[in-house]
Amino acid sequence: MSLNTNATGFFGHPRGLSTLFFTEMWERFSYYGMRAILILFMTTPAINGGLGFDVAAAGAVYGLYTALVYLACLPGGWIADRFIGQRRATLIGGIVIMCGHIALAVPTLGTFYVGLALLVIGTGFLKPNISTMVGQLYSSDDHRRDSGYSLYYMGINIGAFLAPLVCGWLGQSAGFRETLHRYGLDPGMAWHFGFGAAAVGMAAGLIHYVRGAHHLGDAGQPPPPQSDGVARNQLLKGLASLAALAGLIAGLVALGFIELSATGLGDAFGVILLVITVAFFTWLFTMAEWTDDERRRLLLILVLFVGATIFWSLYEQGGSTLNLFAERSTDKHLLGYEFPASWLQSLNPIYIICGLAPGFAWLWIKLGSREPSSPAKFAIGMLFMALGWGVMIGAAARAEQGMLVSPLWLAVMYLLHAIGEMCLSPVGLSAMSKLAPVRVAGLTMGVWFLASSIGSYLGGRVAGLYDTFSLVKIFSTLTLIAIVSTVIMALLVRPLRRFLSAPRSP
Ligand code: GLU
Ligand code: ASP
Repeated sequence: MSLNTNATGFFGHPRGLSTLFFTEMWERFSYYGMRAILILFMTTPAINGGLGFDVAAAGAVYGLYTALVYLACLPGGWIADRFIGQRRATLIGGIVIMCGHIALAVPTLGTFYVGLALLVIGTGFLKPNISTMVGQLYSSDDHRRDSGYSLYYMGINIGAFLAPLVCGWLGQSAGFRETLHRYGLDPGMAWHFGFGAAAVGMAAGLIHYVRGAHHLGDAGQPPPPQSDGVARNQLLKGLASLAALAGLIAGLVALGFIELSATGLGDAFGVILLVITVAFFTWLFTMAEWTDDERRRLLLILVLFVGATIFWSLYEQGGSTLNLFAERSTDKHLLGYEFPASWLQSLNPIYIICGLAPGFAWLWIKLGSREPSSPAKFAIGMLFMALGWGVMIGAAARAEQGMLVSPLWLAVMYLLHAIGEMCLSPVGLSAMSKLAPVRVAGLTMGVWFLASSIGSYLGGRVAGLYDTFSLVKIFSTLTLIAIVSTVIMALLVRPLRRFLSAPRSP
């Protein structure tokens, strides 16, 4: 057991948690700050400094980007596990993310795409590995592990809360645009100041990480070098497959089977995502001689994966569809001040910080042995997702009559979705890391991100339908999907529990 395991320097937790808490807080600041204004920046006419994309194209780019961010966590976790260790991977990731935001701060279309690509690569290196390191701060029987993850989750949400306020104000507010004008700058540049603030946030995270690295003890050290070269061969094969895939897509584009447009590439990516998912789980189940116990763990991971994918596909529209709804159909006047649409992105994290996270922690303790099982929590989470979308049908009906609706509609909806998230997200993150067989610990953390990836992709694509279908129709369909998923998940709770309580092999 390493020394850091027993330390209690950060709210009764190892000091290393403070390092990871603040680093991830700033990383999420940069992620959610840029995400809060991304779709709005893309759909804003060029005359106002935006990219002037139509909603279908913006939704496709948004879906592709956010999905790739999470997808990159799979190789990111694997490379850290096999070669460089989580600690170095996190550092590399942070630097690349910062460069990505800097590229977005430069106002050209080319740097926009380069920036997005860097953010994908950087987050892939950072996000899964910093989360894995949280678990490594504790010995396996340390009862503080779960509460350590809860605290860490608070850090994530503090970053997610502050970011839209800062980046949204810089990017969207009339006040900041006037300031730019006063200094003789183009007010349309405001968006790029928003992206620049995200870069500053990531820089703060990096400084914190480097200065606090000595608190991490043994967490995230590279694995002992392997002489058989198996991992290296796998890496080369992976890179070759990626190159082949890129070649295949380029070929299909050249032959006219894939349209060279955001939506065309988005469609192709959807197919790739499906193939990756099926191939990944097939491989995971067959990659090793798993014991019965390990196999049972993997199966449970698969069930949670499907539930989480559906949940995130409905939830992840917060930054896309619902952000557009806030921009176009919501009255944003409060006490005579017109606030930027992106500020509503701060509602979810503030609910979590100020009430839901501590409230749910209290509730689970209070319920004691009657605390719902992980699958039951998934079902409850889905129910709240359905309720949230149900509320939005009412808002959409009013918006379609041409009114600007009260922001309270979105405020209630974000509350319901955040309650759903409370039932599902912390359970998922900690369950995945507990369930994962040791050999694939970093990798199965990536499974959790694959669910977020598919969810984000679908979220972006649905946002792309914003101008094509009636909002009432879109929101009703989403509500129906959530209701059906709730029922299926609820029906699965019992068999899953029975299955889980089956004796484990030694
Ligand atoms: N909002 C949490 C985060 O950014 C969880 C998101 C997810 O798992 O998709 O870390
Ligand atoms: N609640 C999300 C997470 O835990 C943050 C957000 O959606 O703004 O990071």
